[in-house]
Amino acid sequence: MIHALSIDDFDERTLRLLLSWGKEYFEAEDLAHNPDAELLAGRRVALWFDEPSTRTSLSFEAAVKNLGGGVVRIDEKCSSAVKGESWGDTAAVLAELGCSALVIRTSDADVPSALAEEDALSVINAGNGTVEHPTQAIGDLLCLELSGYLSTHLKLAIVGDSAHSRVANSHFRLLPKCGIDVTVCAPAAWLPGSLPSLSSREKERIQLTTSLEEALSGATVAMYLRVQKERHADNNISLYEEFIEKYQLRSEHLSRYPSLKMVMHPGPVNWGIEISPSLRNSPKCAILRQVRCGVAMRMALLRYLLGGEEE
Ligand code: ASP
Repeated sequence: MIHALSIDDFDERTLRLLLSWGKEYFEAEDLAHNPDAELLAGRRVALWFDEPSTRTSLSFEAAVKNLGGGVVRIDEKCSSAVKGESWGDTAAVLAELGCSALVIRTSDADVPSALAEEDALSVINAGNGTVEHPTQAIGDLLCLELSGYLSTHLKLAIVGDSAHSRVANSHFRLLPKCGIDVTVCAPAAWLPGSLPSLSSREKERIQLTTSLEEALSGATVAMYLRVQKERHADNNISLYEEFIEKYQLRSEHLSRYPSLKMVMHPGPVNWGIEISPSLRNSPKCAILRQVRCGVAMRMALLRYLLGGEEE
């Protein structure tokens, strides 16, 4: 049984395979009319989201259906988990009910691995607390690949609330593995501490700074992250104001840093906080493209986990 709990579950060969499949799906005229439209015929994937989601939840649903599979949605509040059913039993029941995989988003970071321990069905982490969001990161990787930036010596700036971002945590594992140098930029309170869980190889490629100038100078890609107010113990208004004043991406930055070719954000964007609304329709803004890349890579991941080619 293969699970997708963390970026650490993907070695470089697997990432290359996923990218090549994701590219094929992305380039299909319509994601739903692809050569693997029957791959999951008769298979079912359970979707369990106990935190809000638009992109991830709907793109997993689209990905399963584009491959011919069916989706079962579990309402956490109505499931037997609230009666205390163990994660192992839950996974076994879902498998018995005909589910081949479970896509789970949960505020309790340990739940995806507890479900995977039973090894009854493939478990896919769709965001576990602030720990990781691996499928967002591999979707973003496809976006970089399609723009031709993966083959160049890429400097990428991650700007925003990375201390509270599971997307950032997955990228800290993924981007160095792909040879990308990352500058993480934020007010000191939102920088990610000492990056304790990373290997020394990963850490070597990651710089932290509070200076936007330092992060954007020479960077090809700026990946902004949402200010995660729901994860802040107190709503520090002066910090939010400082972020808008000193870090918000505006048109003037695109002129001041001509190396900057692409602006990314995993969404949802707080327009006017992380990024000025005037950049919404800029040709450099790849935010909607990231959504399509996310569906294509989730299709590639489902093929890898359930397609029987890599057993
Ligand atoms: N959608 C991403 C997540 O679920 C990013 C965000 O919410 O800011 O982590």
